[in-house]
Amino acid sequence: MSQRLVLASNSAGKLREFTQLFKPIAIELIPQGQLGISAADEPFNQFIDNALAKARHASKLSGLPAIADDSGICVDALGGAPGVRSARFAGEHCSDADNNQKLLSLLVGQANREAHYVCALVVVRDADDPNPIIVQTRWDGQIIDEPRGQQGFGYDPYFYLPQLQRTAAQLSPDHKNAISHRGQALAQLMKQLEQDPFFHQPHA
Ligand code: IMP
Repeated sequence: MSQRLVLASNSAGKLREFTQLFKPIAIELIPQGQLGISAADEPFNQFIDNALAKARHASKLSGLPAIADDSGICVDALGGAPGVRSARFAGEHCSDADNNQKLLSLLVGQANREAHYVCALVVVRDADDPNPIIVQTRWDGQIIDEPRGQQGFGYDPYFYLPQLQRTAAQLSPDHKNAISHRGQALAQLMKQLEQDPFFHQPHA
């Protein structure tokens, strides 16, 4: 039987990406919403602290190992904002469009458009795991003023990759997953999971 891992996220965009990335592996990913688990608080100022809080919350309520990410976009000209507040940049329950509009309004007349996505990824074997598996990665790009592309989610239509001359929203899901902050983090995490005896033993 494959190991089950609860995904501590209710974001449809992330769920799509994680499911795709986990396809080749013998680990069954269960979205926490499917188990009736609601979102954990994300009170911390660091991605890694929020990811850990989300993973422990999902593991505690499900009794299963859990994976959580905390991600966001950091814009140099804004001192790293919106950072951990990327999802709620324009306010509680705001849309991607609201967030993008706020970001662009703060960058009017700003020449420095450097930005990067960050992904912190944590796996806990149980809620009190003293030795969680942790990775953190970044994906560099620039913020442009006009949206391009229909794929991805969040800030992707404005996140321009100079080497590719495209935004993240112009990349196919496979292409984005191969190079994105989340894709890189998951690739690193997979290596660690493969070497972790816990994920290679039968569990009830
Ligand atoms: P989290 O659910 O607290 O990790 O919030 C992450 C937020 O960061 C998302 O709601 C998006 O606004 C933004 N974000 C993270 N990763 C991506 C991405 O790959 N594309 C676009 N936006 C992203």
